[in-house]
Amino acid sequence: MSQTLAEKLFPNPLPSAADLEDRYPPRQLKEGGRVTRFAPSPTGFLHLGSLYTALVNQLTARGSGGVFYLRVEDTDKKREVAGGAADLLESLRVFGIVPDEGKSENDGKYAPYTQSKRAEIYHVFAKSLVECGLAYPCFCSSDELAQMREKQEKDGAVQGGYWGEWAKCRDLSSEQAAAKIDAGQSWTLRLRSGGDLEKRVAFNDEVRGKIEMPVNVLDAVLLKADGIPTYHFAHAVDDHLMRTTHVIRSEEWLASVPLHLELFRVCGFKPPKYAHVSALLKSENGNKRKLSKRKDPEAAVSWFAREGYPADSVLEYLMCLLSSAFEDWRRANPAAARSDFPFTFKKMSASGALFDLVKLTDVSKGVIAALSGGDLAENILIWAREYDTEFASILQNHGDYLAQILAIDRDGAKKPRKDIAKYSEVRGYVSYFFDELFDGEFPLPDSVCKEDALEILETYDYRGDDDKDEWFGRIRQLSVALGYAASPKDFKANSSAYKGHVGDVSAVIRSAVTGRLNTPDLWAVCRVLGEARVRERIRRIAGE
Ligand code: GLU
Repeated sequence: MSQTLAEKLFPNPLPSAADLEDRYPPRQLKEGGRVTRFAPSPTGFLHLGSLYTALVNQLTARGSGGVFYLRVEDTDKKREVAGGAADLLESLRVFGIVPDEGKSENDGKYAPYTQSKRAEIYHVFAKSLVECGLAYPCFCSSDELAQMREKQEKDGAVQGGYWGEWAKCRDLSSEQAAAKIDAGQSWTLRLRSGGDLEKRVAFNDEVRGKIEMPVNVLDAVLLKADGIPTYHFAHAVDDHLMRTTHVIRSEEWLASVPLHLELFRVCGFKPPKYAHVSALLKSENGNKRKLSKRKDPEAAVSWFAREGYPADSVLEYLMCLLSSAFEDWRRANPAAARSDFPFTFKKMSASGALFDLVKLTDVSKGVIAALSGGDLAENILIWAREYDTEFASILQNHGDYLAQILAIDRDGAKKPRKDIAKYSEVRGYVSYFFDELFDGEFPLPDSVCKEDALEILETYDYRGDDDKDEWFGRIRQLSVALGYAASPKDFKANSSAYKGHVGDVSAVIRSAVTGRLNTPDLWAVCRVLGEARVRERIRRIAGE
């Protein structure tokens, strides 16, 4: 009976389930090797939380000598964006996430890695479920389903949805179903759930430990009216045939596990291990809420690229979020590759990780401080070419000038300055080095009046070839000659005898040359600016 119905529903020749098991055999893995996957919908938008999940998948597979693959879940054509899959792969690559398989549709033995190309595979298992009486066609229209839900609400049904006596098409005979198909009625395929409201199912979540929930009772849709599977059915078929050992995905799927376990069972598949990764949270007015695509620009991974956070900073920060053991490990292994971190699910938070921009800023300053001036300059130019073309063309006119600027207090320094968190700050940070960007401001230090400042500048003789000691000796001499103490200590001991001290004199020079009261080492700054420019800036204020 069911055999005839199955033929009617799936008239085209299909391989057998055994053929598929042969085509996609169990993987030959080394002992303990884990197979994981990242399975995004190609919407063209990479959520920070998805990057986080992808990272856990990659770490889990690589750390065990297993396989990490990418599967494009494009069964929801409404949400798909042209080129979305390629964009996604590129965004992942920027963050060092490179799957072993699935970089393109046929990249690997378990291909195709794109769900829309696997229709036949899903139909094989769908058909065999119909043959066993474990799935049936449903002809209910969306209006009928809406009415059913309304009535359930009105009647206070113990459980909403298509199940038990509410499942109108569940008990159609094969002949009745065949007649509807012959009449051209469209159908979806539903699971004939064996679930019982009284029963519960227990399973182990790698992150959350033992979880118990009511079993599934819903006759869930397996194939939509266009023959495309739902997420649930595709998950069971694909993760079985692609031999995934660990399904690591966002916690939004936790509630579906009872259905998924039932699907694995009725299909005769061994279920994978599950790890449900908590959502990234954000603190707002003292409350925590999920990082939201709608409200938070930083929910999109592209935001970090635009702001100019190095991918390394984002990854380093995500590692801190995903394991409470990472920061200690990092302190002990400052130069080690992140992939050497011994990641385990046990140290993951089950209650959600709080995304904190202040902490990211801090981490990023550390990451940028570890770069050489030359490498940092190169990264900034690449960033500027994409996001600040005016700045890029200024930089391009000046050869390796930016590298020299950034080398100050950085290259060879024991404790490099931790003052840059993102590339978009750099233009403002270095603007005074470029005549095109220098604003010509001359802020006075609190302790010096305009007249005294002018006197300092009129008298100061900058020499570009002075070494650091000569340079400072000259400022000290000048200070003493104009009535300033040669050191802050001298000044403190007898402040009424002086106008101020050598620090005030340097501050005036710093302000004239850079337009700022705070800069990296002034001697080094002046060396990079060059004698002509330094003298010109002093003259500009002091007059001839
Ligand atoms: N396509 C699903 C999503 O984007 C994948 C979930 C999973 O990893 O199984 O949410």
